[in-house]
Amino acid sequence: MNDFDFTVPVLVAGGGACGAVAALAAADAGVTPLVIDRNDRAGGSTGMSQGLFCAAGSESQKAHGIDDNPDIFFADIMAKARGKTDPVIARSIADNSAPALEWLRNSHDLPWELDTSFRASYGNSRARIHCWPGHSGLEMVQLLHRRMSDAGVDVLMETKLVDIYTGEDGRVTGIAVQRKNGEIERIGCENLILACGGFGANRQMTDLYMPETAMLKYNGHEGSDGEAIFLAERMGAKLGDMGSYQGYAMLTDPQGITVPPPIIIEGGVIVNISGDRFTDESLDIAGMVHPVAQQPDGRCWVIYDEEIEARCAHIPEMTMLNELNAPKQAESTEDLARLINVEPHKLVHALTEAAAAASVGAADSFGRSWSDDRPPQGRLRALRVTGALYHTQGGLQIDGQARVLRGDGSAFPNLFAGGGSARSVSGPSSWGYLPAIGLTTAVVFGRQAGLASAA
Ligand SMILES: Cc1cc2nc3c(=O)[nH]c(=O)nc-3n(C[C@H](O)[C@H](O)[C@H](O)COP(=O)(O)OP(=O)(O)OC[C@H]3O[C@@H](n4cnc5c(N)ncnc54)[C@H](O)[C@@H]3O)c2cc1C
Repeated sequence: MNDFDFTVPVLVAGGGACGAVAALAAADAGVTPLVIDRNDRAGGSTGMSQGLFCAAGSESQKAHGIDDNPDIFFADIMAKARGKTDPVIARSIADNSAPALEWLRNSHDLPWELDTSFRASYGNSRARIHCWPGHSGLEMVQLLHRRMSDAGVDVLMETKLVDIYTGEDGRVTGIAVQRKNGEIERIGCENLILACGGFGANRQMTDLYMPETAMLKYNGHEGSDGEAIFLAERMGAKLGDMGSYQGYAMLTDPQGITVPPPIIIEGGVIVNISGDRFTDESLDIAGMVHPVAQQPDGRCWVIYDEEIEARCAHIPEMTMLNELNAPKQAESTEDLARLINVEPHKLVHALTEAAAAASVGAADSFGRSWSDDRPPQGRLRALRVTGALYHTQGGLQIDGQARVLRGDGSAFPNLFAGGGSARSVSGPSSWGYLPAIGLTTAVVFGRQAGLASAA
């Protein structure tokens, strides 16, 4: 087909973490890509995130004396997914996470360091979550866009991928885009990278693939409507783990702000509207959404104290919540119970039972181990929360280089995918999500796709 308006060597659809990293990798390899994004500004799910990213064996981990490596990370991924994930994708993530991080730090001045407040937890057996301290996912994606501009990468905003064209041999020859004024343009490409996020905003798809999320609020990006997955599937691409997702149990109600996981990791607990605890809060960062959603009224309280709050004070979401005066505060457990309208004796029992377990370093009656932290005490805080769907984890089946695979397992010659558009490593449902694997997948496979397409 030769009636394209113009042709580029690498076309990246989507300018979130995956697309931006793919573009930087291709540019570093000497090929100038073109990026398109349907939004009018940098954002996507990446912009809504906390900008946390896993890497195993990083220089920053070494500086903090953390003994980690790709084999340990791989074992953690497989264990969290109970072996029900693709070992090829898992291996690529484990092997390439630290090299991706070091490349972004050294070549593009993206200042990720080990997040020492996000201790080993929820399936990560080592402290391996990296962040850009005190900053958000929005600042991360804005910086990635600045770096694309520095590298001479053109980004067409308000430009939506609406179709993919292929030649007789199955090669992608180009795409159709819809511009802001509604006009359709055709752009030729030698390689196409799909980095359009997942399908959490597409109710038809979530009802089909994950009907149990129907009662959950969606707290992800509206651009994640599954368009890229749909277009590639139509070409014969294979899908994987379409029932996989990250739910999250701690979206504040009514503020709609995420309570950061370290509030629980440092000792916070969750009680229902009667004041009863009902589960081990530290077990499963994503699957925890279901026990919370099943409580009366579907709303619960996260209880923490002044000391836990101080340890999480650097996290932007905590600053926002405190500025909004969202946490209810009291000097004693009974006063807090009255303030949030739960039964005082139940809240007292919940905290006393956990404290008794913590005093001997044992597990409490819900199986939560209190060997490294302690339950809330003294001056308490409470935030009302509800469960929500944050992002999907299933998508296009890829190989370790981010090549999209067909139903028969063969790779399309010039079609790549990563991040929310591709199958991740969270197993078939909600219980296999390792903290920060979403951005890890986006960054690792963004880089793999950028390198492979440039080669
Ligand atoms: C509230 C929240 C907090 C989170 N926190 C974390 C965290 O701290 N750590 C972590 O690892 N994960 C986190 N996640 C998940 C993480 O944000 C995603 O896994 C990750 O951002 C996916 O990156 P992506 O580049 O694939 O998608 P996105 O960042 O969503 O980027 C996709 C881009 O594609 C564009 N697009 C979509 N369709 C089209 C189209 N048809 N044509 C052109 N452009 C299109 C969108 O506008 C968007 O800019 C969080 C998610 C949410 C919702």
